[in-house]
Amino acid sequence: MDRRQFLTSSAALAAIGTTATIAPSCIGASSGRRTDIGKTGILVVGGGPAGVCAAIAAARMGAEVILVEEGGCLGGMATRGLVAPFMTCFDAAGETQIIRGIFGEIVDRMVALGGAIHPKDVRAGSPFSAWITAGHDHLTPFDAEILKYVLDCMTAEVGVKILFHANFVAPLMKGRKINGATLLTRSGLCDVRASVVVDATGDGLVAAAAGAPLFKGNEDSGKMQPATLFCHICNVDYKAICADVEAHLHEFRKVNGVSYRALHWRVAEAEAAGEWDIARKSVNIYRGVREDEWAVNSTRISGIDALSSESLTSAEIEGRRQVQELMNFFHKYVPGCKDAILKSSASTIGIRESQHIIGEYLLPADDLINCQVPEDTVFLASNSVDVHGGGGTANSTRYTTINGNWYGVPYRSFVPLEVENLLVAGRCLSATSDAAGAIRVMPPAMAGGQAAGVAAALACAGEVTPRSIDPQEIRKVLMNQGAFLG
Ligand SMILES: Cc1cc2nc3c(=O)[nH]c(=O)nc-3n(C[C@H](O)[C@H](O)[C@H](O)COP(=O)(O)OP(=O)(O)OC[C@H]3O[C@@H](n4cnc5c(N)ncnc54)[C@H](O)[C@@H]3O)c2cc1C
Repeated sequence: MDRRQFLTSSAALAAIGTTATIAPSCIGASSGRRTDIGKTGILVVGGGPAGVCAAIAAARMGAEVILVEEGGCLGGMATRGLVAPFMTCFDAAGETQIIRGIFGEIVDRMVALGGAIHPKDVRAGSPFSAWITAGHDHLTPFDAEILKYVLDCMTAEVGVKILFHANFVAPLMKGRKINGATLLTRSGLCDVRASVVVDATGDGLVAAAAGAPLFKGNEDSGKMQPATLFCHICNVDYKAICADVEAHLHEFRKVNGVSYRALHWRVAEAEAAGEWDIARKSVNIYRGVREDEWAVNSTRISGIDALSSESLTSAEIEGRRQVQELMNFFHKYVPGCKDAILKSSASTIGIRESQHIIGEYLLPADDLINCQVPEDTVFLASNSVDVHGGGGTANSTRYTTINGNWYGVPYRSFVPLEVENLLVAGRCLSATSDAAGAIRVMPPAMAGGQAAGVAAALACAGEVTPRSIDPQEIRKVLMNQGAFLG
C-alpha cells in the first residue's frame, strides 16, 4: 500500500491548526489482519515530556517522525497524570536557567497564553512551591489544558505525525537491531518500521521487549517508590490557607536542616480524630496559575508494580479513595478549604519508578551530588535526589549542591546495551534508582528527550546506529536549538 495513503499531510493539518495525525481509516485492520503502515525515519513511543521533546527536536532537523501514544493527548504525566508544577529548571544557586531549549519554548508559549507563570518569577518557600525551600526554587506552575494545546501546536508546526490511542505491543527485530514496532490500535495490530526508535514510555517497555538489560526499582532491594494519584482542587480561599501556613512556619518538618513539608499540624488533628489513614504525615499542595486552584500531591500507594495491569488497577481505585479522604480533610481541617471543590483527579496513576534500562553508562547519584559534568553531557540539571517512601538507598532526600550548581547527564545513559538503533529517554534512562530519583522530574525529562531526538535524527541522517554518534555533534546541535550546556 502507498504510504501516502496512510499519512495525512502535516502541512495541511497545521494550516487548519490541527496536529498532523496518521489517518485512522488507513490502518484498516478491522478484519483482524495485521497492517503495515509504512516506514518512518524515527519512531517515538510515548508522548510524555520526554517523547514530545524528542519528536520535536528530531523533526526540526528534517527527520520524518511518527509519535505513538496510548492516551488521547500529549504531555504524559504533565497532562494525563495532572503532575504539577514543573520542578526547577534553574541552577542550585537559583541564578541561571539551565534547562532551556524546547522546555523553555513550551513554558514561554504557555506564559503567553496565560497558562503558566514563568519560573524566574517563582521562588522557593512560597505557595507555588508548597512552601518548601530546598530544591524548590524557580518552579513552573502551569495549566494542563494549555499544555495539551501548546504541545499539539508545536508538534504540528514541525510535521510530527501523531497516532493517539495506539499501544506499543512488540518490537520488530532483525537480530539485535530494532527496526520498528507492532502497535495495537483501535483498528487492530499494525507495524511501523523505523530507522531509529526512541523509547519514551517512562517504563522502558520498548527497550525491555527488545532485550536491553534492566533492573526493577532499587538496584539492591528491588523496591520501587510509591505511586501517587494527583488531584487538583479549586475554590480555595488563598489568603486563609496562606495565613494558616505562615502561622505555623516554625513547625515545619525539617529534612537535612531545612523546612520541608507543610500542614502536618492539620494532619495530626485529623489523625487524632481517626480521619486520616494515608501513609504520610503532611500534605503537599502547590498553588497553580490561579490563586484558588491548587495541585495536590499527597495520596500514597505503596508496593505498586507499573508493569502489572492488576497492580495499576488497585492503585487507581485506592488513589481515588484517598482523594476523597483528602477532600474530607481539606473541608474539615484546613483553613481556606471549607468550600474547596475537587476539580479533577488524574486520569492515570502517577508512577515514580518502575524499571531502569542499563545503558553504556549507569549514572550513579554520586555523580550528581558531586556535580560531575562529563564530556558527553547532553543536558544539565540541579534537581535533588528525591526518593519517596524510603525506596532507595538514599532513603530520603539529598541535595545536589555540594560541589557546584549543576551536574551533567551523559549521552551514554541514553544508549541501551545489547540493542541497536534504540535510544531511551525520560524516566527510564540508564541511572541508578537514586540518580533517577533526581532526573525523573519533568524539566530534565524534556531536556533529555530533546537530546535523544537530536541523536536519533543524526543517526537517521547518517544511516548509522545511535551508539556510534559523536556526542560533540549532538551537543553542537542542541546548543543551536537553544539548549544550555554550560
Ligand atoms: C506522583 C508523581 C509526582 C511527581 N511530581 C513532579 C513534580 O512536582 N514536578 C516534576 O517536574 N516532575 C514530577 N514528577 C515526575 C514526572 O512527572 C515524570 O517522571 C515525568 O513525567 C517523566 O516523563 P516521561 O516522558 O519519561 O514519562 P511519562 O510522563 O510517564 O510519559 C510516558 C508516556 O508514554 C505513554 N506510554 C506508556 N506506555 C505506552 C505504550 N505501551 N504505548 C504507547 N504509549 C505509551 C504514556 O501514556 C505517557 O504519555 C512526578 C511524578 C509522579 C509520578
